[in-house]
Amino acid sequence: MDSPLIALAGNPNSGKTSLFNAITGARQHVANYPGVTVERREGSYRRNGTELRLVDLPGTYSLTAYSLEELVARNVLVTENPRVVLNIVDASNLDRNLYLTVQLLELGMSTVVALNMVDVAAGRGIEIDCETLSKRMGVPVVPTVARNGKGKEELLQAAVEVVKKNVAGTPLCISYGSDIDPVLSVMADRIEKAGFLTGVYPARWTALKFLEADEEVMRKGREENPLLASELQETVDKVSLHLEKTLDTYPEAVIADHRYGFIAALLKSGVVKRKHETDRLYLSDKIDRVVTNRLLGPIIMAVVLYALYYFAFTVGEIPVGLLEQGFGALATLAGNLIPEGHLQSLITKGIIEGVGGVLGFVPLILLMFLGIAFLEDSGYLARAAFMLDRVFRIFGLHGNSFMAYIVGGGIAGGCAVPGVMATRTLRSSRERLATILTVPFMNCGAKLPVYALLIGAFFAENQAKIMFLLTIISWGAALLISRLLRSTILKGPSTPFLLELPPYRMPTLRGLLIHTWERAWLYVKKAGTIILGISIIFWALMNFPGLPEKEQAAFDASRQSAVTQLPEDLRTTALKGELPSEGLSEDAAQVREKLLAIDHEQAQAALKNSAAGRLGTFLESVTRYCGFDWRTNVALVGGFAAKEIVVSVLGTAYSMGEVDPEEDTPLREMLAKDPAWNPLVAFSLILFTMLYVPCVVSIVCLAREAGSWKWGLFGVVFDTTLAFVVAVVVYQGGRLLGIGI
Ligand code: GDP
Ligand code: MG
Repeated sequence: MDSPLIALAGNPNSGKTSLFNAITGARQHVANYPGVTVERREGSYRRNGTELRLVDLPGTYSLTAYSLEELVARNVLVTENPRVVLNIVDASNLDRNLYLTVQLLELGMSTVVALNMVDVAAGRGIEIDCETLSKRMGVPVVPTVARNGKGKEELLQAAVEVVKKNVAGTPLCISYGSDIDPVLSVMADRIEKAGFLTGVYPARWTALKFLEADEEVMRKGREENPLLASELQETVDKVSLHLEKTLDTYPEAVIADHRYGFIAALLKSGVVKRKHETDRLYLSDKIDRVVTNRLLGPIIMAVVLYALYYFAFTVGEIPVGLLEQGFGALATLAGNLIPEGHLQSLITKGIIEGVGGVLGFVPLILLMFLGIAFLEDSGYLARAAFMLDRVFRIFGLHGNSFMAYIVGGGIAGGCAVPGVMATRTLRSSRERLATILTVPFMNCGAKLPVYALLIGAFFAENQAKIMFLLTIISWGAALLISRLLRSTILKGPSTPFLLELPPYRMPTLRGLLIHTWERAWLYVKKAGTIILGISIIFWALMNFPGLPEKEQAAFDASRQSAVTQLPEDLRTTALKGELPSEGLSEDAAQVREKLLAIDHEQAQAALKNSAAGRLGTFLESVTRYCGFDWRTNVALVGGFAAKEIVVSVLGTAYSMGEVDPEEDTPLREMLAKDPAWNPLVAFSLILFTMLYVPCVVSIVCLAREAGSWKWGLFGVVFDTTLAFVVAVVVYQGGRLLGIGI
């Protein structure tokens, strides 16, 4: 027989993982839940010959299937039938944590409560009467300190006793008030009689989920018994309408209110004793009065965010510079070690420059994530999301979409990959999808080099203003597009902002480092592997098939004829391109110039003839409406791999066999001088880069998080069309009005 399964459930940061580690020690392994990127941590424990299996569920505040974590946690509870649920509860934040406990009990799970962090609670003068609490809830309550394993044995003892008794828990019934209770019992009756989903959930629970508009349960219900499902739905609609008319509220809010009411009742008359009044919550309230103030709030938020980016960019500058130099030195070294030819070019131009260009950003990203982790762990981001919820609601989004936008590059610098992953905190799948699809419009760190290049070349006098304008445009685009999506293909109601404001906490260094590391590692791993592959492919596309022999011969011939003016002994050196730039006679200097010009022309011709060049030329028939020539097209196609590549391809395209290798003309100056370019073209290209297809890594991540490749494809087609339309309108409009040409 399989050993009994014990599930650890609790709010995020309640100490689940600490307790899990304390119990299982090294006997554990980590995998992902099938099909989703939520970690599943499993382990085992042996006690007096009884073996127990343990699973550490994702941290959740609730068991509604609004977020991925909640869905995963709930599915384990109902499909794997754990014999006992160890519910880890943060004693210093008891009422909020018991919200989940109540739902576990409603689901009829055999529960043992671990009253964790009693040390923290004691430090704040909070004392909890476990015995009374246990009696009132009807489940064992054991005080623990997961950090040092205190109370672990007693807890396991309680769990083993529950396993031995082997009686299924009876689902807890709490009253939801005079509007909901009658409906709930009618619905539960119907469900019970029809045997509707009863193999999975208790009948009353299914009814509750219908009232809470739980999409997963409703979907399952429609599959099993469409008739009954629509009958239940009708009942729910009637109650909702009634509640809206009479109380201006909706079932979900009423249900939440009553759960909190139930918890308040559990805790009343002496279960919780406070020694001193200056409780942290009290202080939190005081801080909140200032921080979420209607006037001061937004100003503080702007300052905080500005400080975050200022911190990341100023501190990050040095290591980013060092890394760039390091990769440069590595490329030079490889260039010296490997003989000239395709291999050398592949390694230096394809691999080191491609991957280095991206890995160079790692320090910046680490710092940014560190700052964001600080804001998150301290509780500030919840406030920011809370304040913005009103605004976001207008656009069919949720306050929590804000986090995703910020991580995705909302202030400039960020990455759509973690941005898209940050949408996991969103509860409604439609709001989540709308956010996922619009996060890539933010100005991620990879777009910045493109902006920097073009702004430097054409808008040098207005750098800050243009950058500010671009930030506004990207937010405007994201919000408007999500409004569009939410009124068309993602139509549906918005979910209330249920997240309560957690008390402010001083983040622990360890917690910060772990959070930062988790995020940064994803970036390094995904970016590192995929970009390596794509860089190699692009290198090949830009180098093959090379020039036809005839043209090659023509270039060789013109080189030969150029060197005839030189004395015999210099000709071979000259043909190898090894003439020094100084100390030459006037004639020789002229020949050198001429040879460099020929090299340049040949490199350009080869690029144009390469697979990428031909594609770029082919695309010109469309892109000329937004002012792009074939080189820009190649760069943009490359940008599909990673947007930084736009800059490096333009660099290659314009400087291949640079006019004088010893006299680095910055690409910026080359573009500024080139007749094909002007501020209007540059602006049109900036907008195109901002809006067009997200990079490959983001697409992969987007498709995975959205749950279907169709959404990935949608992103590709929709974003590129949008970018094209915007670029054409701007370019043609600008030409018509004579701006920037
Ligand atoms: P999870 O998110 O529920 O898995 O929580 P973790 O196990 O990662 O714990 C979150 C933080 O709380 C960590 O920094 C732990 O060291 C800390 N922690 C966990 N249990 C206790 C406890 O009983 N007392 C104290 N003081 N800290 C704890
Ligand atoms: Mg954990």
